[in-house]
Amino acid sequence: MKKIYLYGNWKMNMTKAETEGFFKGYAAAVEPFASDLGTGLEVAVFPAFTSIWEAGYRSKDMKNKPIIGAQNCYYEPKGAFTGEVSIPMLKEQGVTHVILGHSERRHIFGESDELVGKKVKACLDAGLTPVLCYGETLEEREGNRTFEVMERQLRAAMKGLTPEEMGKVIYAYEPVWAIGTGKTATPAQAQEVCGWSKKLIAEVAGKDVAPVVLYGGSVKGSNAKELLSMESIDGALVGGASLKPESFLEIYGAYKN
Ligand code: PEP
Repeated sequence: MKKIYLYGNWKMNMTKAETEGFFKGYAAAVEPFASDLGTGLEVAVFPAFTSIWEAGYRSKDMKNKPIIGAQNCYYEPKGAFTGEVSIPMLKEQGVTHVILGHSERRHIFGESDELVGKKVKACLDAGLTPVLCYGETLEEREGNRTFEVMERQLRAAMKGLTPEEMGKVIYAYEPVWAIGTGKTATPAQAQEVCGWSKKLIAEVAGKDVAPVVLYGGSVKGSNAKELLSMESIDGALVGGASLKPESFLEIYGAYKN
């Protein structure tokens, strides 16, 4: 069986108190899969900035603790950038992974491909793992522009990276029309894009790079097995279903059983 990456994007949810509550149930939820952790399963949660410390604190003595990530960062290390959070600040909180280019950042907050690319490079320079999100809107899909849009997003994010760095990025295909909508891409649609992405990344980075590509968009226990069984899908970036430890780990349980 392949290794499954189960990454939970909490978005603007989960106060400090709710984060504490999540970790009260986490150990029991992950326990049935404890022997898979490492080679068969990697779990990460991405709390809001204000709950990152709490997540680290509540999980620090856990045997099967998840990776703690952040949902965004700025590429400059410090300075006059009101409202932004730097990479050194995140590292100080124990963060090792950062979601970048999420469609909500691109479409609600107007982040450009170029800005996302600068953040990817800054994270890699600092030894953090970028979780690079990319994907098309419904309008782009219906206008047969899916691959054109994704190629633009992926090439911009990989610009200036060495092949080795390209291999360190975790890529997350998230069709915008499937995020938080309850609409999931069919396993065939998700496989098509993830397989295509791997080919494109290998074309840019070279054949020695074997990129990790996740699918995200309304993944939950009831659709996880079909999606995660697809050859080119290495895991799931999960929003809504990651807010409770049971529904989050149920995704891996559905795949395994
Ligand atoms: C996401 O936010 O990355 C996501 C995939 O959300 P959801 O699972 O809720 O669609």
